Amino acid sequence: MKPRASDKNELEEPSNKVCKDIETVALVVKEAKADFDLQPVILDEVRPDEVLVEMKYSGICHTDIVLQQGLLPMVEFPAIFGHEGAGYVRSIGSAVKNKDLKVGDAILLSFNTCGSCKPCKSGHPAFCWTHAQVNHNAVRTGDRSTPARMKDGGQGVRSQYFGHSSFAKMSVVNEKCVVRCPYPDKMDIYCPIGCGFQTGAGTVLNVLKPTKDDSIVVFGLGSVGLTALMAARYLKAGQIIAVDIVQEKLDLGKELGATHLVNSKETPHVTEAINNITKGGATYAIDCTGLLRVIEDTVECLAPQGTAALVGVPPSGKKIQLDPLTFLLDNKKLIGVIEGDSNPVEFIPQLMEMQRDGHFPIERLCRTYPVSRLKDAIHDLHAGKVIKPVLQWD
Ligand SMILES: [Zn+2]
Ligand SMILES: [Zn+2]
Repeated sequence: MKPRASDKNELEEPSNKVCKDIETVALVVKEAKADFDLQPVILDEVRPDEVLVEMKYSGICHTDIVLQQGLLPMVEFPAIFGHEGAGYVRSIGSAVKNKDLKVGDAILLSFNTCGSCKPCKSGHPAFCWTHAQVNHNAVRTGDRSTPARMKDGGQGVRSQYFGHSSFAKMSVVNEKCVVRCPYPDKMDIYCPIGCGFQTGAGTVLNVLKPTKDDSIVVFGLGSVGLTALMAARYLKAGQIIAVDIVQEKLDLGKELGATHLVNSKETPHVTEAINNITKGGATYAIDCTGLLRVIEDTVECLAPQGTAALVGVPPSGKKIQLDPLTFLLDNKKLIGVIEGDSNPVEFIPQLMEMQRDGHFPIERLCRTYPVSRLKDAIHDLHAGKVIKPVLQWD
């Protein structure tokens, strides 16, 4: 039976019996809506299936702000978030399966999996049936414990969000999250591949696979939408239509491969505009906004037999409206796609090589901020001044 997505579990107090403690600092969120607060924390020594990582960079994903606001029901506090990371291996558990991994290796971090369900065993770990629990509960998958506690007072802090919680100078991570990075000098731009960039690119390269005879619409030009667009250009999709309310983002979309732009703030009937461009509807559409009205548009703008993919995180418990008769008669499809159906150990290296060949210009999206300027980074993200802010640890 598929486990429930919202299972909650009590946080076990960390056991620190015979372990060698590691003192570090992390951005702790003490309760919903509290600030990301740089605090001293103590880490347990790594367990057999864990790796100690010294973080160099942490990408800020919009989901981190949703989490900090307490808007995902399966999240509890205090917690360290951050789910895009890059850094160096500082110690390796005794039973880590990747025998090539060495202390000192540069690595990128991605999502966690159970490793044993049907999708995990068939090469689709992003669709792990326990994705919500093993990633969003931010505790170890086995005994629900956490490797971190506050230095001041000793309270346990959830520190394995996505199996790794990258908003920390040092983090004890699950080995399944670790992908080697042969290009340490580029970790600042490769670090966000582990969530945002592989989500956008993977939805196009792994799932939709448009050809020159197809049209594809990307709603929302954040880091996910723009990497989806880059991937569509890489596959030479016939029409690549970018939709957003911010003209600067649309202009960037044009530079990165969009063949048509729709400013949805200035266009009263977006789906009609798409219908005109595509002469009868799009083959594919991707929602990167999570907004209910936009999700409805992704389905409405499709040609017969078209497919709409939901990628942005919508609010919990809400409903969308579809005309089921049209949906049936037009043989449309609506699918959810977590993390671009990526298998990170294979797909992240592929995306790094695409960037090096000039086909995945993610360097255009990233800007680095010292951790002390986290508030500026979040402000710039909300203001549309940066697509992907990346925190730098020193
Ligand atoms: Zn699984
Ligand atoms: Zn993310």
